[in-house]
Amino acid sequence: MVFDGGRMEKIDIRSLYFSELEEIFREMGERTFRAGQVYGWLHEKMAEDFEQMSNLPAKLRKVLGERFELTMPEPVEERISRIDGTRKYLFRLADGNVIESVWMKYQHGNSVCISSQAGCRMGCCFCASTLDGLERNLTPSEMLGQVYKIQALTKERVSHIVMMGSGEPFDNYDGVIRFLRLISDERGLNISLRNITVSTCGIVPGIEKFAGEGLPVTLALSLHAPNDQVRQKLMPIAKAYPLSQVLKACRDYFDKTGRRLTFEYSLVKGINDNLKEAGELARLLKGVHGHVNLIPVNPVRERDFARSDQKAIREFKEFLEKAGIAVTIRREMGRDIEGACGQLRRGFLSGN
Ligand code: SAH
Repeated sequence: MVFDGGRMEKIDIRSLYFSELEEIFREMGERTFRAGQVYGWLHEKMAEDFEQMSNLPAKLRKVLGERFELTMPEPVEERISRIDGTRKYLFRLADGNVIESVWMKYQHGNSVCISSQAGCRMGCCFCASTLDGLERNLTPSEMLGQVYKIQALTKERVSHIVMMGSGEPFDNYDGVIRFLRLISDERGLNISLRNITVSTCGIVPGIEKFAGEGLPVTLALSLHAPNDQVRQKLMPIAKAYPLSQVLKACRDYFDKTGRRLTFEYSLVKGINDNLKEAGELARLLKGVHGHVNLIPVNPVRERDFARSDQKAIREFKEFLEKAGIAVTIRREMGRDIEGACGQLRRGFLSGN
């Protein structure tokens, strides 16, 4: 099966597995070693058009341009943090959609936060990515393109990826799986799956299926509340999948993959940040293999909620620690270059 994203006439060549490319080359009557060369150009040298592929005959380059589509996200804005060097990119895709990606420098390497969809339809009340709804799924090629383009622009190797930009990865399940296999391919950028985190709002069938893919990635669950009542206030998806089911799927994920989970918990003042909730959270996660990542919520202009006070955040953390739960507070990167997730894109779309 050839992936064509369901909407393009030409085949989206960067979304193809190596074996698929070989097969098409065979059908075209081309020698298959050419498929290896082209795959190397696409995924190792990160070529942006066929004319760059200098060791191919000119005639083949022309044929490739006629049969296949090859596009790269085009940076329309780059913001560099003066505090920590974090870079935020706004990219324009071939069809005019814009998405955002973030590059972060850590001691353990360089990490890129990518989007899996243009917009999002999950409707979480604190998130800017969802305010205008879902435009469309990104193709594997467009997810790869964010990483490739950023590596080219920064001239530094990307070693880690987090799927925490716009979009719900399990709402674009097949595209995300293909992206993960391509980005970790030995013939390509070869990023270790262990260095990749997929973050989900908690689509239970997605988590269950993902556990069976044999991909040792870290799963992050956007928990944000210790019970269904509070969670439903923040996240519409909580009405479809109660926490009992979500946590069972997370336990099974650990059992199948051996990968410890990350539980993201954005602290919203007066909603989910008092010690009663910390107590409930500790009971909920007792014995689950994973750790809690507390995120001081980023206020979104369009929405009416506030970040917890420093004191409340500290006390919440200390409570969990005493209860034996592994917990960290997320370091805020690039605080000076944009606020909440999805706000850069949103500001661009509304002309602010
Ligand atoms: N759809 C995926 C990825 C979303 S973004 C998911 O739901 O997990 C990654 C994380 O940022 C999620 O935990 C999300 O809930 C959180 N997030 C979104 N907007 C935020 C904000 N304004 N402040 C703090 N965290 C936010």
